[in-house]
Amino acid sequence: MNVVVLAKYIPNPTGTPQLGEDFLLVREGVEGGLDPGDEPAIEAALEMTEQAGGEVTVVSMGPAPAMEAVRKALSIGAHKGVLITDDALRGADSLATATVLSAAIQLQEFDVVLAAVESTDGYTGTLPQALAEFLGVPALTFARKFELGEGTIRIERQTEGGYQVVESPLPALITVTAGATTPRYPTLKGIMAAKQKPVEQLALSDLGLSADDVKPTQSVSGVEDAPERKAGEVIEDDGSAADRVVAFLKEAKVI
Ligand SMILES: Cc1cc2nc3c(=O)[nH]c(=O)nc-3n(C[C@H](O)[C@H](O)[C@H](O)COP(=O)(O)OP(=O)(O)OC[C@H]3O[C@@H](n4cnc5c(N)ncnc54)[C@H](O)[C@@H]3O)c2cc1C
Repeated sequence: MNVVVLAKYIPNPTGTPQLGEDFLLVREGVEGGLDPGDEPAIEAALEMTEQAGGEVTVVSMGPAPAMEAVRKALSIGAHKGVLITDDALRGADSLATATVLSAAIQLQEFDVVLAAVESTDGYTGTLPQALAEFLGVPALTFARKFELGEGTIRIERQTEGGYQVVESPLPALITVTAGATTPRYPTLKGIMAAKQKPVEQLALSDLGLSADDVKPTQSVSGVEDAPERKAGEVIEDDGSAADRVVAFLKEAKVI
């Protein structure tokens, strides 16, 4: 059972990232780290290989400092890493990102690809599905529980009202919800061991891709602050409060 797990390096994981004048997140020269949203998927990858054997490969795409995210995943327990760095990838949109990640993953042996439902910094929530399409494997989304079978995987798929049970043959791509696993912390031993683990650093040309193949088809042309929330209305009960609450909910189309 070989598992590939995606790891994204994001600026300022515990705060608000800074937006550059070109409306892209400032990703270099600022503090950054592994996207905490990826940790449940990394944990799931480790649990799968602990149960069924095999290796976890962490795959990332990002500027040179993104190596920190790869090393963190290795210190938690992943076996090897792949980082794609290339100046032509600055501003890559979701489609270009899926193109690059798919080319890198196809160089690996894998039964399962795990990803977060969405990234914490800039996200569309579409990357995993595009990636599954490029890899030619089924996409199982919003998984909150996993059960490995003989060449199959069964998941509980989180929905608004409960969950669906979905089964698929392997290989498959799965997006992992935040509460699916309890991520473990890197130990000192893990941090030391991570330094010796193999990491391949690739450029676009190593993947048989050129700058033209990853030209973004979307760009952000403007960013505005969200409008401030209006102050709420306090309804004092003069005997008509219930009717006024019902009228308010109807107007808001809640009921
Ligand atoms: C490793 C990885 C894992 C992801 N995992 C998920 C996921 O699990 N679920 C999901 O829905 N979406 C995921 N995404 C998609 C992502 O969050 C965005 O939707 C998509 O990458 C668009 O980028 P952005 O909004 O961050 O844009 P921007 O801020 O414009 O950044 C563009 C991208 O280019 C990369 N980049 C910048 N400079 C370089 C460079 N020199 N070399 C290489 N790359 C560079 C950035 O890291 C970023 O990914 C992942 C992306 C990556 C790269």
